[in-house]
Order: sequence, then structure tokens, then C-alpha cells
Amino acid sequence: MKSLDQYLEDAGVAHGHLCAGQVLGVRLAMHGLRLLGIHDPEGADRKRTVTFVEIDRCATDAVGLVTNCRLGKRALKFRDWGKMAATFVDLQSGKAVRVAALESSKALARNMHPELDNKNKQQMLAYREMTDEQLFSHEWVKVDLPEHEFPGYKGDRVVCAECGEGIAFKREVLRDGKTLCRGCAGERYYQPLSE
Ligand SMILES: [Zn+2]
Ligand SMILES: [Zn+2]
Repeated sequence: MKSLDQYLEDAGVAHGHLCAGQVLGVRLAMHGLRLLGIHDPEGADRKRTVTFVEIDRCATDAVGLVTNCRLGKRALKFRDWGKMAATFVDLQSGKAVRVAALESSKALARNMHPELDNKNKQQMLAYREMTDEQLFSHEWVKVDLPEHEFPGYKGDRVVCAECGEGIAFKREVLRDGKTLCRGCAGERYYQPLSE
């Protein structure tokens, strides 16, 4: 693993700016990987981790950077829960740990650096200085990861009986004997304007 400073430098470049979220995300991911005993996420331990993130904010980018888990490689899974937490799964051992940022860390940052005039500056500095225990809670968990959720899974594509679009990774829905995509099955997040 790289040093905190090195990761923060990389995170600032990748994310576009260095912010409290980058510091928190880098620390969260380093903590999770250390708990699992994963030390070389970009080398020997590449492809060993799947990470579930529970929020799509600044910290998410940093978690992806440190773990080397990418959405496009199916190694970064997003669960939209609005929580500053992530679960790190070691595919080698089957162990998994969920790490969550403590609510109390915000107040602690304020108390540690009252001399700084804004919250972001206070947090950016304090989140570097706090211990893992001051920043996070963690619990060991079990994550059921079926074969088709694995990063390298190659499966058959099926075609939606309604719209004719291809569907991968067993995301189809069976309804009244018809194979449908989730959109046609009623889970659409958009409405076509032409109708
Ligand atoms: Zn940011
Ligand atoms: Zn469809």
C-alpha cells in the first residue's frame, strides 16, 4: 500500500480537487484493506477485492482509487444508501468487513481545530490526524456474491421480449413467461418523451 500522503496526492489529481471527502475516503479504504490483510491492491492483490460503496460522493472516488476497484471492472458495487460506509470483500479468503465513518468525527474535527475558520479545512486536517478508531467503526460481515456478480463473469446475454435490447449478468426479469429487461418490467427511471 502507498502512504496516506501519496494516496492523497493521487486522489486530488483523479478527483479534480483535494477535499475532506478525499481524506475520509482514502482513510476508509486503507483501513478496510488493512483489516483484510490486503497490502498490494495495485500489484499482487489486484483482482482480490470487491468493494461495495454506500454513497456517491467525493469519498467514493477515493475508495475506488485506493482499492483499485472500478465500476467498469465490476469490482466496485454501488448501493445507494446515502451512508458514508463501504464493505470490502476479500475474494481469496471470503472474508468481508464493513467500515463506516462515525458521526462523532465531525464534532471531533471541530474541536481539534477551532483555529481554522471553515469546516472543510478543519475536517481535511483532522481526518488526517485522527486514529482509525476515532474515525470509523467496523464489523465483520458475510457477503453473498453469486458467480454472476464476480468481476470476470462471462455469461450469456438474453434479449428483452419487449424492447429487443440485450441484457447481461442475469439482470432480466421473468414475467408471465416473458423475459423482460428491468425497464420494461416497470422499473424505469425515465419516461420516453415520444409517448
Ligand atoms: Zn471532493
Ligand atoms: Zn426491455
